[in-house]
Amino acid sequence: MHPVIAIDGPSGVGKGTVARALAAALGYRHVDTGAMYRAVAWRAQQLGLDLDDEGAVLSVAQAAVIDVDGSRVMIDGTDVSAAIRTPDIDRATTRVARLPQVRAELVARQRALAEQGPLVMEGRDIGTVVFPAAAVKIYLDASADERARRRACDPAHSAAQTQDLAHIAEAMQRRDENDRTRQASPLTIAADATVVDTTGVPASRVADEVLAIVRARVS
Ligand code: C5P
Repeated sequence: MHPVIAIDGPSGVGKGTVARALAAALGYRHVDTGAMYRAVAWRAQQLGLDLDDEGAVLSVAQAAVIDVDGSRVMIDGTDVSAAIRTPDIDRATTRVARLPQVRAELVARQRALAEQGPLVMEGRDIGTVVFPAAAVKIYLDASADERARRRACDPAHSAAQTQDLAHIAEAMQRRDENDRTRQASPLTIAADATVVDTTGVPASRVADEVLAIVRARVS
């Protein structure tokens, strides 16, 4: 297995920005596992499936050809990079991500990627479940207000820009609560993760700080 840098944390904390910068600096592949859950939710919804029907959603996850390459996300030949970042898919994804067998399928795919080359992988359970022996584990955090503000300005989530901040914050907190309290792989901080509080810190400085932590550990 090649080295893996695990980046976990709640929504809107800036995992993508940090993971992208790290991957570019280290020459590692960047994998956004949230995009994989989003793509499965998008496909299941497109097929009109009941998102609580574990068997049906599992069939989609097992059959789908998912290609996550940086910010481009393809499922079964369709580029869904923009379509998966809407408030509707935010909600659908949290439901799909609760299903243990769907998680098991995606976790197996995530682990297989580390056979191909070194990775910076971002998500919710990378350091706790997917790669408990990851070379470096970073847990990013920030206040709920700041995360809502960042999401409101995130060009990848352009649909969020039409909503008011209170609405974004409320929806985000509901999703995070679901992610933290679900039975299967809830969002928790790995015992050996380095926690970086990014509240009030510009993304570029967070990326530099995390890169310094990673360089000190990975030679
Ligand atoms: O990171 P992002 O906000 O795109 O993730 C969308 C959703 O996918 C999260 O709210 C969470 O429910 C789920 N997810 C997960 N495990 C991961 C990555 C994402 O459960 N490793």
